[in-house]
Amino acid sequence: MNFIICPKCGKDCEKLFDKVCQTCFFENFKLLELPLVLHLRLCSRCGASYHKSRWEELGSLEDVVLKTVEEALFVHELAENLELSFEPRKLSPFIFKVQVGVDARVLGVPVFADAETEVRIKREACDMCSREAGGYFEALIQVRAEGRFPTEAEKKRCLQIARDVVRQLKKKGDRLAFITHELVFKEGLDFYMGSTNASKQVCRQIASELGGSYSESPSLVGMKDGKEVYRVTYSMRLPEFRPGDLVHFRGKVIEIKNSGKKIIGLDHSGGGTRYTAAAEEFKGAEKLGRIEDATLTVLVSIEEHAILVLDPESYETVAIRKPASFSAEAGSEIKVLKTPYGLFALPDSNFSRAQPKA
Ligand SMILES: [Zn+2]
Ligand SMILES: [Zn+2]
Repeated sequence: MNFIICPKCGKDCEKLFDKVCQTCFFENFKLLELPLVLHLRLCSRCGASYHKSRWEELGSLEDVVLKTVEEALFVHELAENLELSFEPRKLSPFIFKVQVGVDARVLGVPVFADAETEVRIKREACDMCSREAGGYFEALIQVRAEGRFPTEAEKKRCLQIARDVVRQLKKKGDRLAFITHELVFKEGLDFYMGSTNASKQVCRQIASELGGSYSESPSLVGMKDGKEVYRVTYSMRLPEFRPGDLVHFRGKVIEIKNSGKKIIGLDHSGGGTRYTAAAEEFKGAEKLGRIEDATLTVLVSIEEHAILVLDPESYETVAIRKPASFSAEAGSEIKVLKTPYGLFALPDSNFSRAQPKA
């Protein structure tokens, strides 16, 4: 056998590791290096942690602690077939101890090393939470209704929509999705929003559920770091008419079913047929009441195109138009709308509950 002499200790050996014998090589070899103490900045409000010079949401506290240790851990570049183990222990909400073990092969020799570190957590407010707490806002949503005040139910729903949309965006990682102030007035609501994106989503959702439309107008509020700073006002307009409203428009008496960009309704003066119009053309309609105001009256007799009913106020027999869809029998009670423009019978679907059982 050929022996080599270690230049460091002078002993014979079979092969050299980095120019010395195995014993001399591993004497000074450090498989892993880990600082004794690590610092972690954590937002006490949203749980984000400060990582690579920015605030991020990285998961549970333990995940964040382990990530901090992993990033601080240094394993020798000659190590191969690495197997790492981490054992975190929570000593207090501010201190974790983490035991790290490393199994590896170095130049063909199996080696193991372990180390322990202490992660000290500093709880503070992240950039976004301090903005939120400081009343920062980038956009303002003003919810109003066209030609009326919004109802309590509409205001409640808008509030819910805004909170839900913001919560969902936040979950998806939009850290500017927050509402700084919610103000509720008789004439509507104001939301002070962390981001224009969230504001747009809130308006979109309100319009899709309650109808209406919105517009945005940016205004220059100042300069920051040489850049112009804009604030955007979203003007959300709930539609003038709500589902169930009874209106008079261009000689017709219409029950509103839906009012977004398009008005969809039933034309009760036309026998209960479907009515549609573009919202921008539907101007100057007069509100007569609500569909719930329909009253029960006696159906005296049925003719081909007309029916005879008792006027619910004067009790006189009057002939009115027979709705297109109509199956009530003479002698039963049906629902009618008494308006300044005449008396109208509701078609089948509107008064099914009022019909006596056969
Ligand atoms: Zn040696
Ligand atoms: Zn935060």
